[in-house]
Amino acid sequence: MNVLMIAPPGAGKGTQGVVIAAHFDIPHIATGDLLRDHVARGTDLGRQVRDYLDRGELVPDEVVLTMVREALEATDRRGYVIDGIPRTMDQARALYDIGVEMGSTADVALHLEVDDEELVRRLLARSSKEGRSDDTEGVIRRRLALYYEVTHPILEWYGERGILVSIDAMRPADQVGRQILTALEVVRQMVDGDPEHPRRPIDLTGLGRAFGRTD
Ligand code: AMP
Repeated sequence: MNVLMIAPPGAGKGTQGVVIAAHFDIPHIATGDLLRDHVARGTDLGRQVRDYLDRGELVPDEVVLTMVREALEATDRRGYVIDGIPRTMDQARALYDIGVEMGSTADVALHLEVDDEELVRRLLARSSKEGRSDDTEGVIRRRLALYYEVTHPILEWYGERGILVSIDAMRPADQVGRQILTALEVVRQMVDGDPEHPRRPIDLTGLGRAFGRTD
């Protein structure tokens, strides 16, 4: 199972990426974590990207694509869950090309939907716990704006390819996690059955109400 996660900052892609990786026993590749690890270790790459991370700007495509290609090569091709990339249409196309080359294009683009105010609330709460340099209010707003400008439009492309699964991620993380795993189990059966069969996008965002959401 090859899963890409597309979501605004604070929607829970890191948390849910870990859940998906554990459930399907596949590697979790999180570009933000990999970049922060380089910064923390003071590598050349870390020095190159630190300012971008602090400002909430995207690091150059070449840097992040090379990093992801290496991470994918280090897996044993039994699937992946990737979070943090693609952030732009160019990255989406480049990642697709890498997938074609390695015989491992995405089966699912998992989109987590959360309201902006809830995102800001979660990110500010995280900043007091984790102290991330990019979780200050100004940088959070910048990252959100960037998400809507360059990342959100990619969803349409995945919708057209029939691999988009949208999930209402406003609810508590454990409920969201269960819904994701249920949806991915269905996708897994379809992929195992006929990987080339064209599929329709799956939209589970309306399910929030069934789980107690009132708006
Ligand atoms: P994240 O942990 O996914 O929120 O990413 C944290 C930061 O890492 C972002 O604000 C960017 O500065 C950088 N970053 C992560 N993934 C990418 C990417 N695919 N392209 C460019 N920059 C990225």
